Amino acid sequence: MKIKGKFLAVVCCLALLAPAGLAGDAEDALIDKIVAAYGGDALLEVKTLRINDRSKGFRYGQSFSPNEIDLAHYNALVTVDFENRRKALQWVRGSQPNISLQHQIFDGTQGYSIDHTARTLTENSGITYSSADRRVSWLLDTVLARMIADERADAVYQGEENYDGAAHRKISFQADGFPRMTLYIESESGRISKMQRSHWVEGQYFNYQFSGYKRQDGITYAASTYVTRGGQPFEVVTARAVKFNPEVTAVFDLPVGYGEEKPTIDFSKMTVNKLADGVYLAGQNWGFSIFVDAGDYFIASGGYRGLKDRLEAVNAFAGVDKRLKFQVVSHHHNDHLGGMKEAAELGAVFVTVKEHVNAIRESAGVTLADDKFVIVDGSGSVAGGKLMVVDFPTGHTSHLLVSYIPSAKIAFTADTFFSRQEAGVPSGSERLSAFKKMFADHKLDVDYFAAAHSGRVLTPAELDAAINNIPEDEVCPADWKFCMK
Ligand SMILES: [Zn+2]
Repeated sequence: MKIKGKFLAVVCCLALLAPAGLAGDAEDALIDKIVAAYGGDALLEVKTLRINDRSKGFRYGQSFSPNEIDLAHYNALVTVDFENRRKALQWVRGSQPNISLQHQIFDGTQGYSIDHTARTLTENSGITYSSADRRVSWLLDTVLARMIADERADAVYQGEENYDGAAHRKISFQADGFPRMTLYIESESGRISKMQRSHWVEGQYFNYQFSGYKRQDGITYAASTYVTRGGQPFEVVTARAVKFNPEVTAVFDLPVGYGEEKPTIDFSKMTVNKLADGVYLAGQNWGFSIFVDAGDYFIASGGYRGLKDRLEAVNAFAGVDKRLKFQVVSHHHNDHLGGMKEAAELGAVFVTVKEHVNAIRESAGVTLADDKFVIVDGSGSVAGGKLMVVDFPTGHTSHLLVSYIPSAKIAFTADTFFSRQEAGVPSGSERLSAFKKMFADHKLDVDYFAAAHSGRVLTPAELDAAINNIPEDEVCPADWKFCMK
């Protein structure tokens, strides 16, 4: 909010009573100070920006073992066109030669995802000006300085705080499509020391800490950024190069001769699919569970958030009202534990390996007695063999419980294949051959393969076709020089 000088006297007295938002001069003065610290007109007149950040991410909740936090390697090239509100992300995950790529463009009106290995170009409405860069540009303080200068009218002064041993003033703002951000401005220099935004867990925050300020072309930027999430290390930038006002035209050119990605099934609505007598696959979006009617109760496998909704949908579909007695937990990753609190509230007993008990307890958020767990070592079954589980460790997780329903010869697994396309077969991998072999080793005949992330069930012939459909290794496109490093 901006209040002109002649109201200053009124504002000064109101400020004692009024919320911080009315103190327009405090916001203006602080934003002026930030702009000056970051280069004044040079900052405001930046038309385009290129950032090349190499960073390491800490894989909480998605590591191979529940007892260690894995490290992920990222190399991102982000191009921002402030004038035309365009953004491009060229993103490399992993280290050579085991890399995976992501290429996204928002051209000012339309978002695109580009797959250089499959040679596809796909319109994607989820890719917007704020989301196209996977938040990489937020790692750069200069971008935040420019954003708050552009959003001056809605900024709110948040008072003073001694941060990292120095006096700071705080100011928050929310740009369209972005979360609310609070900047910690060092009072003396006007530089941004920290940006804070909310975590989806209430009361927790992402804190972006900036240091090692440099000046280039009259503009200031931090050479180092360290991000914590809920107080834990989350991401750290290990190398950074920025370029102000680079030529960007070619960056927004779409590739020529690329086809469209295969159409995928719309899973936005809850669906229940009866796979066999008393066996149902229910879910929506990325979370599906299989339910086995064991007489008085259901056994479920697939632990995404929304478990209660899926149980309710199955009961309604089958015209019954049965409780959930057993919940099979595939593995310890956060997303697959999203429904554990619901399972606990439903009074279910968890079927798991002993290594994942702590993660389940933590995720459930309530005290779970030892008799709430059936511990599987290698393989096992519940409800007199109505559902079997086999531990299938992969490079993805040190333990993965795959479910098998002998009466219907149906298998259910998480994170092994993604059958979301309307037709054809999913991409294969070495893991899928091992998956097939695992059933043969256990002398289990499978007629249908269901998965936690997709509603389409595969036949053995389709699984074989997928095994023979292993995509080529991803390599840096010829014009991605930053990627070769
Ligand atoms: Zn996983």
